[in-house]
Amino acid sequence: MTRITPQPGIMDIALYQGGASHLAGVEDVLKLSSNENPLGAPPVAIKAVSEAVLGMHRYPSTDHAGLRAAIGEVWEVEPERVICGVGSDEVLQFVTQAFSGPGDEIVYTEHGFSMYPILANMAGATPVRVAEDERVVSVDTILAAVTDRTRIVMFANPANPTGTLLEMAEVERLARSLPSHVILVIDGAYVEFAQGYDGGLSLARALPNVLVTRTFSKIYGLGGLRIGWGYGAPELIDVMMRIRQPFNLSVVQLAAAEAAVRDTAWVRDCVALNADQRARLTGALRQLGLACDDSHANFVLARAGSVAEADAAEAALNAGGILVRRVAGYGFPEGLRITVGDADQTGRVIAALTRWREEAAA
Ligand SMILES: *Cc1c(COP(=O)(O)O)cnc(C)c1O
Repeated sequence: MTRITPQPGIMDIALYQGGASHLAGVEDVLKLSSNENPLGAPPVAIKAVSEAVLGMHRYPSTDHAGLRAAIGEVWEVEPERVICGVGSDEVLQFVTQAFSGPGDEIVYTEHGFSMYPILANMAGATPVRVAEDERVVSVDTILAAVTDRTRIVMFANPANPTGTLLEMAEVERLARSLPSHVILVIDGAYVEFAQGYDGGLSLARALPNVLVTRTFSKIYGLGGLRIGWGYGAPELIDVMMRIRQPFNLSVVQLAAAEAAVRDTAWVRDCVALNADQRARLTGALRQLGLACDDSHANFVLARAGSVAEADAAEAALNAGGILVRRVAGYGFPEGLRITVGDADQTGRVIAALTRWREEAAA
């Protein structure tokens, strides 16, 4: 018998399932399964990467000073309170690993991002899942679940896969009601797509136990490069910096992110395109008899009346060369999460589903 034993929690981790990217027999697949930017990466980032590769024999900066300064200017935050990671997933890993371990609890919500329980288990902590209220995070339910052993409460706002937004007053009530030994992590992967919401940056500035995370994977179109950041009190950032590998971000990642974050015009255009097509897609889905909440992100969660109906809708989309995300693992066996594409792509989704309903009625 082997005496090699993994750390507690690791064998409880179910491997993360990414969005599908292939459909048998289809050449030009429309991938709407991973909330990627339909416009691709910003041209300034592509240019920055092609220049940065010429310097890739050099180690990257270890303090990320250039990127943190750019983030600071654009988002009006103090660079010394910013930490950068390999995707925001790594920033979430820093906070769970640095502040929780065996015997501790990490609270997340019913339809929360599947990385949260994985990260809790990676740290050896216990993931504690609490109910939502009609697909919206519930502050009172979270507060009722907090114990002396709770170290972290984690939720995304806007949320994935529901697209719902917890209003700022409620986020603030949660932050102010948590006991002082609990860190509130607000995952802001989709913040840019929500209107009039700063993603909790002002709360993280004011309170010592709030950490906000952000990513370059969604609106900035850089999911394949893996860059994210976090913002919080110096006491939190200082602890997390100690477990960050000194060269976690490559010269290429740093150059792309710095160029992208400064391209505010790009972000504005992407926000406008997404808002238009999101409204169009939501309206069409409802007309086709698929329920959906108003989304504040770059995807819409369509809920069919049954699993069989969702299977049929997915088959119709696949037949049209379109891939979407089934979200049974998030508590929606009858759900289809559809990334908002550009006008042509959204037209393809609507056409495929319209044809499906017409054929079913014929
Ligand atoms: C996509 C996504 C992220 C971003 O992860 P990265 O590691 O930055 O690519 C984080 N949280 C949620 C809820 C997401 O959907």
